[in-house]
Amino acid sequence: MGLRFYNTLTQQVEDFHPQHDQEVRMYTCGPTVYNFVHIGNLRTFTFQDILRRWLQARGYKLNHVMNITDVDDKILRNAAKEGKSLKDYTEPYTEAFLEDTGKLRLQRPEKMVKATEHINEMVQAIETLDQKGFTYTSEGSTYYRISKFPSYGKLSHLDFSGMKDGARVDNDEYDKDSARDFVLWKARKDNETFWWDTSIGAGRPGWHIECSVMAMKYLGETLDIHAGGIDLTFPHHENEIAQSEAITGKPFAKYWLHSEHLNIDMQKMSKSLNNFYTLRDLVGMGYTADQLRYLLASVPYRKKLNFTLDGLVAAKSSIQRLRDYKLRLDTGKFPAGSSDELATRTAKAKDQFDESLDDDLNTAEALAAIFEYVRETNILMDSGGFPAGNAAAAQELLARFDTVFDVLKPDAREGGISDAEIDAQIAARAAAKKAKNFAEADRIRKDLAAAGIVLEDTKEGVRWKRK
Ligand code: AMP
Ligand code: ZN
Repeated sequence: MGLRFYNTLTQQVEDFHPQHDQEVRMYTCGPTVYNFVHIGNLRTFTFQDILRRWLQARGYKLNHVMNITDVDDKILRNAAKEGKSLKDYTEPYTEAFLEDTGKLRLQRPEKMVKATEHINEMVQAIETLDQKGFTYTSEGSTYYRISKFPSYGKLSHLDFSGMKDGARVDNDEYDKDSARDFVLWKARKDNETFWWDTSIGAGRPGWHIECSVMAMKYLGETLDIHAGGIDLTFPHHENEIAQSEAITGKPFAKYWLHSEHLNIDMQKMSKSLNNFYTLRDLVGMGYTADQLRYLLASVPYRKKLNFTLDGLVAAKSSIQRLRDYKLRLDTGKFPAGSSDELATRTAKAKDQFDESLDDDLNTAEALAAIFEYVRETNILMDSGGFPAGNAAAAQELLARFDTVFDVLKPDAREGGISDAEIDAQIAARAAAKKAKNFAEADRIRKDLAAAGIVLEDTKEGVRWKRK
């Protein structure tokens, strides 16, 4: 059926066709760097990673831009309170974001751009909007007049007909009951520490204009994909459309993809409710980044995910099952020959995996296809019914799984022993045994155990696990 996504704009599942051959121009809203990101934020970024990886598996080349919001009300307030420059205040959180997303094995976008490095372009965009008659000023601030943009509301499918013309808001975030003219440029207030002196006055940009400007600067007037968490649909993405389309007269993005929230105790995880965990919190409690990655990736992105610590425990055993299976495939001794029936079964598992991800990234079904295959072939291996000639195709299937899910390699642990060293030690132990030097073989086993590596002698050879 081909690759398809649910498009928030049309409220339909649509076939995916980018505008320029195999290139996908994608923009995603990045973090506001006033604190560490929590695992709700990380769910959204993990969805975008799965999206990237599946597009690549389907032969597309990514041109993906993500912004870093390094200026907003909270940042300005906190930096002033701590007596720091904006840069000194935001940089550690930007670094922490890169570190956390790196631990989660999220691919870096092709370009990451900071709002504070695009103030001139934002001012120019606001001037263009002004020339086209979409703005007005009040007390030095510039606002976007939404009544000038007749299709306002087309992304969030909200009806704004009863709205009062001219009512406005200065806050960057507001709920749908208060659709108002929104601020493009906020005038400096007397006591404020941070501002930019520009042709449209002294002040700072609103949040929405940064994304329109940076997206179009690096990706052109019409994006293939714009993605973010579902809470950004209104007002943020609605406002991005109003700004960008008023400037260009062209559609801003073809496909709008929004991921559902991560909840905890049935409530949205958020800083303001103080019901959040960061990745750092979880690592401190003894969980690992790959457990979190697996858990976040395993629920299809348009379904709510209710986070529990038990979910992380279950993720651990799922990952272990797959790693055990890979080890069995890589090191097991299988009877000679090959089976056509099994080859067909393997091809079917691959098709099921691919079709599930093509279907708006249905990761749960993709995982089910893999686990069912693993279950059936483990049974065959137990009874000697898995011939050596079928191993390569099974390994390929697992490798395809891992190009998207990326959980088969153990987390690198600082100061830990590498896979290659472990393999070398196992080979040395086998050689010692062969030479009947059992004391040496035993010593190697004990040393590995002390490093947290457990060996298991099976009829298919030696397997190892990290404890
Ligand atoms: P922020 O740093 O608040 O701008 O958020 C960064 C990204 O995380 C945005 O795409 C939000 O939509 C997303 N986000 C925030 N809270 C959650 C949550 N509980 N679950 C999923 N995504 C979230
Ligand atoms: Zn944005």
